[in-house]
Amino acid sequence: MQNRLFIGGEFVDAVDGGRIDVLNPHDCTVITEIAEARAADVDLAVAAAHSAFPAWRRTSAAERGRLLLRLADAIEANAEEFAQLESLDTGHPIKDSRSLDVPRTAACFRYFGGIADKLQGDVIPVDPGFLNYVQREPLGVVGQIVPWNFPLMFCAWKMGPALAAGNTVVLKPSELTPLTTLRLAELMREIGFPSGTVNIVPGYGHTAGAHLARHSDVRKIAFTGSTNVGRQIVEMSASNLKRVQLELGGKGANIVFDDAVIPAAVNGSAFAIFHNQGQACIAGSRLILHEKIADEFLDAFLSLARSIRLGNPLDPATEMGPLTSPMHRDRVLSYVKIARDEGGEILTGGAAPDDDALGKGCYVLPTVVRANSDARVCREEVFGPFVTVTTFTDDDEAIAIANGTDYGLGGGLWTQHLGRAHRMADAIRSGMVWVNSYKRVSPGSPFGGTGLSGYGREMGFEAMREYTEAKSVWVNVDAQIPAWYPR
Ligand code: NAD
Repeated sequence: MQNRLFIGGEFVDAVDGGRIDVLNPHDCTVITEIAEARAADVDLAVAAAHSAFPAWRRTSAAERGRLLLRLADAIEANAEEFAQLESLDTGHPIKDSRSLDVPRTAACFRYFGGIADKLQGDVIPVDPGFLNYVQREPLGVVGQIVPWNFPLMFCAWKMGPALAAGNTVVLKPSELTPLTTLRLAELMREIGFPSGTVNIVPGYGHTAGAHLARHSDVRKIAFTGSTNVGRQIVEMSASNLKRVQLELGGKGANIVFDDAVIPAAVNGSAFAIFHNQGQACIAGSRLILHEKIADEFLDAFLSLARSIRLGNPLDPATEMGPLTSPMHRDRVLSYVKIARDEGGEILTGGAAPDDDALGKGCYVLPTVVRANSDARVCREEVFGPFVTVTTFTDDDEAIAIANGTDYGLGGGLWTQHLGRAHRMADAIRSGMVWVNSYKRVSPGSPFGGTGLSGYGREMGFEAMREYTEAKSVWVNVDAQIPAWYPR
């Protein structure tokens, strides 16, 4: 297991020898300790990325793509190891790590491997006698800061487009979940990514993360995490006006209309909130039910929620694992108290499981709370297996409730009425909408939010644009055109 920083193609100790314990959220035992990057280490990583940039930028796009394609193959060849490590470190059930996290990571690197040499410029029709073309150029060193909820997959979402477009990278994983990122770095070295193109600096946010965000040699910060830290990143970026891309929190509305196919809506809505223990920015954390079907829906939904198998993430039968850290478990449970204080009704869950085998871990039962749409639990991101239920009577009310938060990331609609589906998809203020499904993602489809959910888009061609800037080149192709002051 790699547990040191990855800088300039080598695994190295931290300059001042700092270490961080990495916990197994199943029982809170220490898996390993890793080197802790601080400002001096970030400086070394940025310097390595800076020296690697000119050559990487000049490497043909096809060759950059080929390395990313090889990386995708190598991840698949080591899929089981990645799945085990991700589950151990994050608490993701192993069946999810095997079927979602690892394949999606490989698919994302493969997509950007394929797209690397397909990013074209434009020729603009301008005045006769002139040629104007626009080429897209990489930015330089980009800093990437990722959270702990999908650490491996987010490496692909962030590094894939950045590297394909010719940037070099300094990535700071969450201090809580660095293990698969470091293993990825090891594979990248074996495959032949040139030294310094990718540097990994696990460390705390307020030290390593903040130093990266402020660094004057970093041209862009791509950040995934909480809205509060996102705001700080914007302030820190001001020193050299680096570009900022923010993937922040969410409070996904999941609306079930009275014409929905109820069993499908129940199943999809459970996935929307309980997959990954609800630790997903796009989680469908607000169930908004038409009053006509609310009772029928809730009967089935609550019995499904109560039947979810909690357990050791490494057990293939486990459907929900622990939350990723004790701190986070306590935060999620604090929202149960907030819900009660606000007059909410806990329909199921609302506690840690009463089970000796899980007692030392970060487990929380699937929790369903009936609450008013203006309650704190309906407006603030809980980021756990915690879903609120409110009801509506007509489409306008559903939209008003759905748009009643400052977030705008993902939202779901369950209806068989084609016109309603399109009308509602148009009316919901969010970066992504799913109709009769939830939480679908694909490397080709733009991902991101609006409002307090941030700005910028990951994945697809949008992501390649985010990691490049346009240069407009004017060529006078007609020697006869007089200059401004003919002599
Ligand atoms: P967080 O904001 O606390 O931390 C995210 C990352 O930022 C970590 O690597 C952390 O070390 C670093 N960080 C913390 N303070 C920092 C600082 N002052 N300067 C620079 N870096 C700093 O978030 P979290 O608790 O790790 O993750 C959960 C949050 O992430 C949730 O709000 C969730 O919605 C959001 N999220 C958003 C998306 C999206 O795509 N929109 C995806 C996943 C998670």
